[in-house]
Amino acid sequence: MIEEVAKNIYRIGVVLPGNPLKELNSYLIRSSERELLVDTGFRRDACREALEAGLQELGSDPSKRDVLVTHLHSDHSGMADLFAGPGRHIYISAQDYKYMDGELNGTTSERKKRRFLQEGFTEEEVDYIRSNNPARVQAIPKLTDNFVTLSDMDMLEVGDYRLQMLLVPGHTPGNVMFWEEKSGIMFTGDHVLFDITPNITEWADVEDSLGKYLDSLRRVRDYPVRLALPGHRKTGNYRERIDELLQHHERRLRNAFEIVSEEPGLNAYEITGRMRWKIRARSWEDFPSIQRWFAVGECLSHLDYLMKRGKVRRTFDGTAWHYFPAED
Ligand SMILES: [Zn+2]
Repeated sequence: MIEEVAKNIYRIGVVLPGNPLKELNSYLIRSSERELLVDTGFRRDACREALEAGLQELGSDPSKRDVLVTHLHSDHSGMADLFAGPGRHIYISAQDYKYMDGELNGTTSERKKRRFLQEGFTEEEVDYIRSNNPARVQAIPKLTDNFVTLSDMDMLEVGDYRLQMLLVPGHTPGNVMFWEEKSGIMFTGDHVLFDITPNITEWADVEDSLGKYLDSLRRVRDYPVRLALPGHRKTGNYRERIDELLQHHERRLRNAFEIVSEEPGLNAYEITGRMRWKIRARSWEDFPSIQRWFAVGECLSHLDYLMKRGKVRRTFDGTAWHYFPAED
């Protein structure tokens, strides 16, 4: 369960029971003066026990331990306050900090609910998902006062390692990676994953999140990465994977546009049900509700992208939005 992936950098596998991601990769970077723990896991017993056991096996010292979260998702941030040592810091990008604050006081999540109701979900399904979604129920309950916000290109030092924060919005509004130039190590968080594709959804108050994600992939594509350390699952060839991710979204954009062109006037819920997904379910009706929520969010980020570029337009019927090819 523990692996030394580079000198003084350890991967601790934090189990995510019942979640298709299976595991979170938490990384401990340490020196004699300081420890930095990158990402933590959902706020639930199984995750807490796994991370505690891993840190104990490594002889980690809480009094030296700061925590860094690559983005606001609760499988990364859920236990940040429990694992930062007394008087130590929790680092996060300023953008995700602000967004988390909005989620915790309910303003952004209400806007998100309103949009999903206008995209074809029923009130009943939205309420069911919101009360069961681990992203909400296994999250950090409040922003403690030891959070420290970081900006693009800021540096953190641990022993010989100098980690530079790279702001790569898309997967979340303030998603980040950390680049260590001397060793060629990139902590990719969920920006680049190797055997699954990062979920790109719509975000209340963020325009064109897919466009931002694709720009962020291009921004970091040419770094001379020797070892990519992702937030979930295995590592792989960094640049090849970025090219695959760019192609994946090109295909999905074409797929969404074809559906809108072939059946003009569908709502996003119906379009999503006709798109191609990699999930073990016989039909759209058999998708678990929570997976439907992620899939519609993903579809919306693609429809938003097409609308912004003048390919698709939509009309509102008083209840839901309906999508059409722009030149129809
Ligand atoms: Zn994530």
